[in-house]
Amino acid sequence: MKRLPLIALLVLASATHAQAFDDKFRQLDELLPTPSDTRTASGAPGHAYWQQRADYRIRATLDEARRAVTGSETITYHNDSPDTLAYLWVQLDQNMFRADSDNRRIASHPSRDAWRSGGTPFESARFLVESAKFDGGFKIASVTDRSGHPLRTAINKTMMRIDLAEPLKPGARVAFDIAWRFNVPETTVLGRRMGFERFDKEDKNDLFEIAQWFPRMAAYYDAHGWQNKQYVGDGEFTLEFGDYDVELTVPADHIVAATGELQNAGAVLTAAQRERLARARTADKPVVIVTQQEAEANEKQRATTMKTWRFKASNVRDFAWASSRKFIWDAQGFRKDGTNVLAMSFYPKEGNPLWERYSTQAIIHTIVEYNKYAFDYPYPVAISVNGPVGGMEYPMISFNGGRPVKDKKTGELTYSKNTKYGLLSVIIHEVGHNYFPMIVNSDERQWTWMDEGLNSFMQFLAEQAWEDHYPSRRGEARNIVDYMKSRNQVPVMTNSESVTQRGNNAYAKPATALNVLRETVLGRDLFDFAFRAYAQRWKFKRPTPADFFRTMEDASGTDLDWFWRGWFYTTDHVDVSVDGISEYTVGTKDPEIEKAWKKAQHDLEPVSVTDQRNQGTLPRRVDSHPELKDFYNEHDAFTVTNRDRNKYNEALGDLDDWERNLLKEGKHLYLVDFGNVGGLVTPLILDITLASGKTYVERIPAEVWRYNPKKITKLIVTDEPMVALTQDPNWETADTDTSNNSWPRKAVPSRLELYKTERDKDNLMRDFNEKLKKVDK
Ligand SMILES: [Zn+2]
Repeated sequence: MKRLPLIALLVLASATHAQAFDDKFRQLDELLPTPSDTRTASGAPGHAYWQQRADYRIRATLDEARRAVTGSETITYHNDSPDTLAYLWVQLDQNMFRADSDNRRIASHPSRDAWRSGGTPFESARFLVESAKFDGGFKIASVTDRSGHPLRTAINKTMMRIDLAEPLKPGARVAFDIAWRFNVPETTVLGRRMGFERFDKEDKNDLFEIAQWFPRMAAYYDAHGWQNKQYVGDGEFTLEFGDYDVELTVPADHIVAATGELQNAGAVLTAAQRERLARARTADKPVVIVTQQEAEANEKQRATTMKTWRFKASNVRDFAWASSRKFIWDAQGFRKDGTNVLAMSFYPKEGNPLWERYSTQAIIHTIVEYNKYAFDYPYPVAISVNGPVGGMEYPMISFNGGRPVKDKKTGELTYSKNTKYGLLSVIIHEVGHNYFPMIVNSDERQWTWMDEGLNSFMQFLAEQAWEDHYPSRRGEARNIVDYMKSRNQVPVMTNSESVTQRGNNAYAKPATALNVLRETVLGRDLFDFAFRAYAQRWKFKRPTPADFFRTMEDASGTDLDWFWRGWFYTTDHVDVSVDGISEYTVGTKDPEIEKAWKKAQHDLEPVSVTDQRNQGTLPRRVDSHPELKDFYNEHDAFTVTNRDRNKYNEALGDLDDWERNLLKEGKHLYLVDFGNVGGLVTPLILDITLASGKTYVERIPAEVWRYNPKKITKLIVTDEPMVALTQDPNWETADTDTSNNSWPRKAVPSRLELYKTERDKDNLMRDFNEKLKKVDK
């Protein structure tokens, strides 16, 4: 006997072990945090729920010439937690723009090949050069208590710790002052989510979109403690609610848009502008507050004086603003139920004609639609600003890109379909963020999907309510298929900074999952009730993923653990194949019928080749000698005998009436084998076609996979023969391969494109002899 080394024996031994059962329906409780007094097992805030609060009094000045902001603030921090706090953490997000920030240091490339292939855009190369030179980040001038005594601080990159002289007791509050300044990054060169845009070629003005611009309290909450994870770039922010009183001093000819309500219109607006603003409140279409003509006149001047705009905002988690002398401004009021809002848009002339037509309308549309599914928009204003930021949300205000293009020679303004719908979509999306996460205050630094995914889902619903066949990018199951089959994926439940394919992972996949949950798993009524329950429970509070998962189950009365497990915790995809099908009919026991049925089956068998070739060519002896034929030449195994009849009659006598009726039902039974190729369990939606041409759909819950997640056999009973079956006929489950969904299999139609072979492509002599063209500069 040959001896196997020990290691080989071990391998052999383990190979014989049965594979562990892959329980797709295993309950999530062991993965989710233990319910507590602050967060219940039903997904609601608990009786002891608490959250911190931070109020801000800010004064800031925009130094237009230096493109810098200088500010000072008083933060009043309320410790509503049951904990005593020895120190506080403050976010210094601007420090991400420092040349030595972690954001810059950890930048990496997936591979050399990815770096080399496809080339590098000019913008990326410029970023590399400029980000190393830019003097970015907060310059903190002072951190003092209210009497002006310096507080001890420690700055750790994008976070600052303030050590308190006295620990802050539960229920107590502390106020302190911070003074700072920073250089505003140019958005298209260095910026992200904020910055300035230069119009050097046009009127030599700038447009400022200012955000993450003041030191803000980091969140401190029951499930996490201090959320002081560094701002590296992708994980945005979670902040505390509070009241803001902000004075912004800008050049006197600037128009300012900001979170909150303007307090001193008399000091910063003309009488005509104030009259138009009042008229806008009840108008049925947008009213222009600053006309294009007025904005163009503003562009040409340079005020030497400054004006201070004062804004107040209650119960918001952040504050952002925009300022420029280029702004055209329009507004329209919207009032319904608990909502009383002034929708406003600010844009340079370069945004027209798109912006004057669509922006404010899109804001109101967003509020109308989101109110249906979440809660009434509670704030007094909702603003969309056109500037250099492609799309970014703050409370009551959002920055949105998208403009027409101007032909350099003719000056003609045109825009593509993508630009138009991209603009509508981004405004819906960013205004929609007021609901998630500006009000349902999830922790973006931890989970991008909790606001982006839920908001992209709501965006899809709002887009579909804009017009028929609205070209939504995300939401439809069929649009996620390519991503679901792709490699290099991480589960949705991945920290914001580690997410790959961010748009697909954190926006599109959860949005699609919720759409599948709504249309396919729960149905609209149950889903909408549960989703609204989540929004209502957590508005102005801070939910975690478990609170969302639990509320959706609690309010719909449905165990969805398998759904969260598959869509949020794995990278499995849906791919169900219809593998086999066999037909059964119930035997009648009647020998006249059964033997005829058996004969019919026998006759359906192909005739043997030997018989085919002998037919008519091979003379048979019994034909030339008919006297050789007897009983067995007349009868075969399918002949019904009296013994058969007697047995049948006896058997019938033993049956009860209901048993006899069952024999006559004439049902058709089909055993259909389904394979789960993709791993993600899914409801089965079966489109069944019967012999008469009648079709119907049978919807089978995902629990059909509970005993075996890989392979199941499902019995389908029909009144007449089934001639075809298609799984997921409407493409609603994101099945990644529909070629294996039908019985009988259908050929997949495709086109083979032929092309002419190009000869002599690389002809140096011809290229050399080509005439030199004049350069048109
Ligand atoms: Zn977003």
